[in-house]
Amino acid sequence: MSTHRQPVDAARALGFKRFKPTRTIYLALFIALGGAVFYFAIANAKLLQSERAQQHQMIELTNAFTNAYALERTENGAVPAAFRRIGMEQFAREIGQSSRSREVPVYIRMPGVPGLELQTVEKNRQILDYIRVMANSGMPRGKEEIQLELGRVIARKIVPSFASEQTCVSCHNEALGFQAYARGDVMGAFVIETDLTKPVVQNAYFALGAFFVILFAALLVVGRENQRMQSAVDALRGRVEAESYANFLASHDSLTDLPNRKLFLRRLNADVAAFDRGKCENVIAVIIDVDDFKTINDTLGHDAGDAVLKKIGISLRAVLERYGGIAARLGGDEFAGVLKVCPGGLLPEDLGSELLDELCLPFGFKGASIQPGVSIGVAGLNHLPEPGPRQLLKAADIALYAAKRGGKRCTRIFDNELRQRFGRLSGLTSALPDAIGKGAVSPILQPQVDVSTHQLVGFEALARWTHEGQEISPAEFIPIAEEIGLIGRLDLAVLERAIVLVQRLMETANRAFRLSVNVSAKDFKTDEFVEQIQRVLHTSRFDPNLLTLEITESVFLEDWSAACARLELLQKMGLKIALDDFGTGYSSLSYLMQFSFDIIKIDRTFLQRLDEDRARLILLNHIIKLATNLGKTVVAEGVERPDQAVKVSKLGAHVLQGALFGLDIEQAPELLMQSNRKVADHARAAH
Ligand code: C2E
Ligand code: CA
Ligand code: CA
Repeated sequence: MSTHRQPVDAARALGFKRFKPTRTIYLALFIALGGAVFYFAIANAKLLQSERAQQHQMIELTNAFTNAYALERTENGAVPAAFRRIGMEQFAREIGQSSRSREVPVYIRMPGVPGLELQTVEKNRQILDYIRVMANSGMPRGKEEIQLELGRVIARKIVPSFASEQTCVSCHNEALGFQAYARGDVMGAFVIETDLTKPVVQNAYFALGAFFVILFAALLVVGRENQRMQSAVDALRGRVEAESYANFLASHDSLTDLPNRKLFLRRLNADVAAFDRGKCENVIAVIIDVDDFKTINDTLGHDAGDAVLKKIGISLRAVLERYGGIAARLGGDEFAGVLKVCPGGLLPEDLGSELLDELCLPFGFKGASIQPGVSIGVAGLNHLPEPGPRQLLKAADIALYAAKRGGKRCTRIFDNELRQRFGRLSGLTSALPDAIGKGAVSPILQPQVDVSTHQLVGFEALARWTHEGQEISPAEFIPIAEEIGLIGRLDLAVLERAIVLVQRLMETANRAFRLSVNVSAKDFKTDEFVEQIQRVLHTSRFDPNLLTLEITESVFLEDWSAACARLELLQKMGLKIALDDFGTGYSSLSYLMQFSFDIIKIDRTFLQRLDEDRARLILLNHIIKLATNLGKTVVAEGVERPDQAVKVSKLGAHVLQGALFGLDIEQAPELLMQSNRKVADHARAAH
């Protein structure tokens, strides 16, 4: 599926074809031929019409002429046949002359039945036969015909000639010398013939001329119309292409060409619906996360990062399409896939290991070899307590999370163990909003001790939630709050309660303490959180200079520059910003340069391994020196034993925090004094 091929196919599918020039010519020819034929037919019809009228006129004139002659003569005096012929010839000539411009020859004769009417013998056998039929039938009718005779076009009119007057009868009988006719008999016929060859040929020439004129005009008009239509079609095609391209972009990721989250969810829903209808045995969903993608970007550059994403996209698509599924990029370095499974088909674990093998293959980039690592979560719909698209995706996500925690570059299947965890997670997810709203999530205060003065100087507020009699770890509910978008409310609730507790402690001890609260990177996506903190400080009248916000390096994964601006704003208000869990990520040192943190909190895992790992000790030494030189305060977390306190103090940490000084001071204010003493004892021992 190529980004650029797609729109063209769409235009073709809609039936947009290019106009061919031959079509234009055929169309013009057709129009010209039609026009010429039409012209020829009309011209000839008109010609015939006028000729018929003239023929008719001639018969009328001849009859009038003989009638007039008969009236002039004695009552029963017949018109001599010769006279009649003279009249006919005269009118024929007149009519011939009147149509001279067209030079249409007109012939007229008056053949008789038994021999001669006007002593004319009909030579045309067909006419003769017709006259005989007229003479023998009781009701003779004339006829008009057009005949092609010896290459000539003849328009003919045959009109019966009756023996209407006795004089007429006797005159003819006398001329013939026997009793040929009785009154009322058909004696013969007027036969008028017009030779239309010339005007018809002329019409043909005109029609031919018309053909070429129309052809030329038609070529012009049709050609222009075609062009107009072509540009309209081109414009339409362009629009369809642009629209289909836009649709493609709206449903696909531009870097990998893979379907995006929207399209993926549509397909996931369709596959689960097919499962519900019994059309398949299982639906498998996979979610894939590239291990340490940020490190690849930071160390090898964004081009390398893009190449990794493209390569993973290609391999993922190849594997999934092999089984009739689809691959998608959900965003960032997260990919997904979904496929329907027929009875006896693919197992989730087989898909998981095949994907791991294929996606982790090394590939060449700018002369170097990159071997990407991925963590894969796989879930099968038929293994879910509640089969549904959302649940399937969630299950794959939980499996992915487990894979990541299991040490990366591995596949985890959503199995029974995860299923139980999933059930618990769903329960917690639905209970948490209420817990936050009703204040069931509240802080404990963890003491922080200054190394040089041995004094308790402040507290870190840590959220606690007891749900159905069981204490839930923040490591469990904080990610849930982040996912359901309630982390801001939770952090503010903890801040408000912690301020109240610390203010109370300050009153008891009659001196100031610092307060440190944890805030999520997600809080800094909008300005709202900053405004809320201002509001809390204002209403509680807590000194902003005593407040520290602890933030982990995950803030760098969000929209860093926007978050940075908001953090600077808070610094200007007097707040301190601490980089929490320092030393757990890969790029902690580089983050130190990206924002001027006031405090660095060394993660407790660092302290735990100090004994067995000398290199770590040296590293910690340098980090503390570096941070101190940069003017930052170093807080060592997770100080459990006096020897640890001694070590980090010697290395130059400024503040200590951990089980050694108590993990919660909230319940008993008198602990405050005790811990003061304890601190002093341990600090003295350390020196
Ligand atoms: P964190 O900010 O690094 O907090 C320190 C964690 O280490 C706390 O775990 C604390 O109880 C534990 N800890 C400190 N000293 C010692 C020690 O000497 N020994 C041992 N074994 N543990 C020690 P906790 O309370 O489970 O919190 C876990 C994480 O949850 C925190 O790590 C923090 O990232 C997050 N969190 C806690 N409360 C909040 C909150 O209100 N808002 C946000 N956004 N995150 C919070
Ligand atoms: Ca913290
Ligand atoms: Ca920490």
